[in-house]
Amino acid sequence: MCGIVGYLGNRQATDVLVDGLSKLEYRGYDSAGIAVNNGSETKIVKTTGKVATLREKVEATADLAGTCGIGHTRWATHGGVTEVNAHPHVSGNVTLIHNGIIENYKELAASLKTKGFTAISETDTEVAAMLIDSLYDGDPFAALREADQMLEGAYGFCVMFKDHPGEIYCMRNASPLVASHTEDGSFIASDMVALVSHTKHYFVLKEGHIAKLTKDEIIVKDENGEVYGPYIHHISWDMASAKKGGYDYFMMKEIHEQPEALRNTIRPRMVNGLPDFSADGVGDELFTDVSRIVITACGTAMHSGLMGKNMIERLCRIPVTVDIASEFRYQNPIIDEHTLLITVSQSGETADTLAALRLAKERGAKTLSVVNVKGSSIARESDYVLYTHAGPEIAVASTKAYSVQVAVMYLIAFRFALVNGKISEKDAAGLMTTMIDTVDKVEDALTYDQQTERIAKRLTSATDIFFLGRGLDYALSCEGSLKLKEISYIHSEAYAAGELKHGTISLIEDGTLVIGVLTQPDLYEKTVSNMVECK
Ligand code: GLU
Repeated sequence: MCGIVGYLGNRQATDVLVDGLSKLEYRGYDSAGIAVNNGSETKIVKTTGKVATLREKVEATADLAGTCGIGHTRWATHGGVTEVNAHPHVSGNVTLIHNGIIENYKELAASLKTKGFTAISETDTEVAAMLIDSLYDGDPFAALREADQMLEGAYGFCVMFKDHPGEIYCMRNASPLVASHTEDGSFIASDMVALVSHTKHYFVLKEGHIAKLTKDEIIVKDENGEVYGPYIHHISWDMASAKKGGYDYFMMKEIHEQPEALRNTIRPRMVNGLPDFSADGVGDELFTDVSRIVITACGTAMHSGLMGKNMIERLCRIPVTVDIASEFRYQNPIIDEHTLLITVSQSGETADTLAALRLAKERGAKTLSVVNVKGSSIARESDYVLYTHAGPEIAVASTKAYSVQVAVMYLIAFRFALVNGKISEKDAAGLMTTMIDTVDKVEDALTYDQQTERIAKRLTSATDIFFLGRGLDYALSCEGSLKLKEISYIHSEAYAAGELKHGTISLIEDGTLVIGVLTQPDLYEKTVSNMVECK
């Protein structure tokens, strides 16, 4: 959950770095730091706490002038929240920032120790800096290439080498990095949100590739050391989308952006009133000769998959399983060429989901991804992609991204059912109209702000909250419960309403809050009975 920014150009690096880091703060952070090179030496400023604290420290530091630098907000995984553990980390020739986790850092540290490298921090990151330094003999590409083969885990690195001033080298595995060259210089970041005030064009650095940033250009080399011309994407949103725009919180803003996000996602897929993915390049061959669908994702995206399962099975009469992506590859999944694997991810970079996708491809499955970020790894590596058009999601708790993922799941169900003759064109058109009308209802629901606020205030003293539902309402409950615990820190669980009586009901005591989700008329009475039981 850290943030990375690198810059090299005509401007003072500190301004670009600290500004970029403040845009990435929403990702969560516990410390921050920058390294700036002025052509002859590199200075480092780091601190625990907020980017605002870093800014103060930077302003109070003399001689931080320089047009080349790297900056980092840390979300500690290895080692406590201390200034020593904050990035950048230095080893000899190398100054480095890192997003991710080096899984084999202990083994590497042990072998580096025999070569005289001793860490001063407790981080896995410093081991990566030492490793690259140990492999370096004047050629940054060669050292990074070799390190890439030795490192296990997730990493997005920006590296400066002491004897290569005016250059920043970048490499990644699983963690995201996007880059852009403009008249002002070269930029790199873990997320376009940090760069959107400078540029709307970017490319995604591919895993296994190494980028060299200079003031005048960005050179990318592939695994074989050949120069590679990356595909340039253009973002359609601007800085205003990445700001709070009158709302007190990003989450509030994004909740209110749901109708627009839904319209942007559904409308282009409605052709002559029918669900249609031809503009996405997703042909009907994807939906034929499929005996089974596996949806895999994490967290909120996985919950949208639960909604998808319900709708696809209901309409298409084909078995659908929903697998937690982080479990997928450890359970030897049953997959063949008649399996359609659907991955769902807002960022398109979720490491476990990407790993699941790769495994499914190896086993011959057809793959479709539902992703929000263009050009992301999951989008690129899937056979087919359906983009959700949510725009940037800044709040940590996903809201509008979930809504549009559910919408795409429904669209997939509609098209699949239509292609396989399970529903008529008339049925499909009816479902599309209902879905479009639902967006107006979402808009109406957002006018209940005051009521929901009043109710929420009365509930803040709850220490345990259960969500109950059946079918789609159970899938929805899972997301409601996740959202609640994620942002309120109150313990919460979602239960299939009929399952509660098999043990868990013993946890329902005086004062336990139970929220029933009852949106389906045919299941209403059943769930009411469970609510009465709780009462
Ligand atoms: N694993 C590294 C650390 O604990 C990087 C964490 C991050 O991505 O912020 O310092």
